[in-house]
Amino acid sequence: MKIIYYGNPVLRETSKEVTEVTDEIRKILDEMVETMREESGVGLAANQVGLTQRFFVCEVEGNVKKIINPEIIKFSEEEIEMEEGCLSIPRIYKRVKRPEKISVKYMNEKGETVEEELDGIWARVYQHELDHLNGVLFIDKLSPLNKRLISKRLAQIKKEGN
Ligand SMILES: [Zn+2]
Repeated sequence: MKIIYYGNPVLRETSKEVTEVTDEIRKILDEMVETMREESGVGLAANQVGLTQRFFVCEVEGNVKKIINPEIIKFSEEEIEMEEGCLSIPRIYKRVKRPEKISVKYMNEKGETVEEELDGIWARVYQHELDHLNGVLFIDKLSPLNKRLISKRLAQIKKEGN
């Protein structure tokens, strides 16, 4: 699958809920896992490969999750800063502050509803990928100064792709 880069309007779209987990979606999820691994990413949202549907894949320490119709039910009050990057915005890494722990609800690839608590990298990736499905990028959360510092690089990605 081809990664969509910053500047493509599909990254700013709000993706649509999945009504049924079909074999077609399971196949797409598998292909997305492959693409994420090829690109050495820890997460990949559907609109990053041009599909405006609400699902993403992520992998932390060899464990893969395929997340459909994700929700966040509860955020911790504690926030932490962690460095983030994005396959759609190559070679930009910046620290972003987000809630440390979250309670989430989603559908897995079998169509089962899953509820769990996430922290650490899982919580971070889940929030980053869910943002994608709402057309939000991690660079939107940076300070005006940091945005200025990356503006040249962003213009370059917009022009050349990667
Ligand atoms: Zn991303």
